[in-house]
Order: sequence, then C-alpha cells, then structure tokens
Amino acid sequence: MPRPVRFNVHPREADIHNNIAIAEMPAGLQGEGFFATSLEKVVGLARKNSIWPLPFATSCCGIEFMATMGSHYDLSRFGSERMGFTPRQCDLIMVMGTISKKMAPILRQVYLQMAEPRWVLAVGACASSGGIFDTYSVLQGIDQVIPVDVYVPGCPPRPEAILDGVLRIQDLVHNESLRRRHSEHYKALLNSYGIQ
Ligand code: SF4
Repeated sequence: MPRPVRFNVHPREADIHNNIAIAEMPAGLQGEGFFATSLEKVVGLARKNSIWPLPFATSCCGIEFMATMGSHYDLSRFGSERMGFTPRQCDLIMVMGTISKKMAPILRQVYLQMAEPRWVLAVGACASSGGIFDTYSVLQGIDQVIPVDVYVPGCPPRPEAILDGVLRIQDLVHNESLRRRHSEHYKALLNSYGIQ
C-alpha cells in the first residue's frame, strides 16, 4: 500500500512569509471608503522606498558597500536593490573611498548628470573629510565639490553604518517639500558650488 505523501514546510520559510513589512501610510484623513492626503506625502513615500543608488566606489569603503549589497545585509530590503551605473537613471550617489583631486572633476560631472531631485551620501572618512590622507593629492572631503546630504563616519564604516546612512537619506527624501528644489535657499546652495 503506498504511503501518504507529506509536505514539510521549513520553519524559516514560514518566517520569511510572515516578516513582510508594509510601508506605513502617510498622515491624512480617512473614513469609510476613502483616504485623502497631500500629493507631497505620497510622492515622498514613493521616492523613499524606491531610491536608485549610483555607487561611486574608488577604494576600500567600496568593499564594505559590496557586503551591504550582499544577502546578509541586503540593501534591497529598503527598495534600493536597483544599482544604476548611469547617473541619469539614479537619484542617490553613494561616494565610497578616497577621492583624489584629479578625480574630483569627474565626481562633479557625474553629479551634474543626475536629474533632480538627487541626493548625496558620503560613505567613510575619506569621502567625508579625506580621512587619513592629509596629502597634496587627496580631496579633503567631497563637499568641496558637491553638496552632501548625509555623512557616514568610519574607516571603513561597517555595513550597518552604511545602512543607517541610507535610512537617514530615506528620512530626508520622505520629508522633503516638493518646493525645496525650486527654493532660493537651494539655488543659493548650488550657486555656492558654481552650479546653475
Ligand atoms: S575611509 Fe578608510 S576604509 Fe574607507 S576608503 Fe578611506 S582608508 Fe579606505
């Protein structure tokens, strides 16, 4: 007589299905059959959870970034699994590594090729301040050539710190006013970098 077939569900498989996190809906008015909020909040929510990063990695911090993208830390959990290697399709440039003064104009050009709205994450001591390389050839922080939104400290920062930096960027993206990019304050910031 044939034995009944049993299907065993692995407990970790069940965990995966139970741990799906749904993004919180923005503040608004709701009642039976309707929900109303502002366009700004909806756009912020969508942008926050679909950031397309452009990795600009030049040295060791880039290796930590590779770990951040791996399955253990998994940047995909934050909607950022889609790496772009063309700046025109990306809205977050992650600068990781030592940037020499010769490289600075290239970094600036890549930044300028990104469409607005765009954000900048300086990952590690070198990108943030030149790090240990206080020399004639190394740029002492990328904020000398492009405006930076979030700095991640460390030499190198651990993947958790890079993830935290991305979360801080998400906070900025989520709460940014749609008018900010057209404001006098933002134009003055770009002007201070010689960007029209
Ligand atoms: S901050 Fe440290 S780990 Fe990162 S690129 Fe500079 S020297 Fe390398």
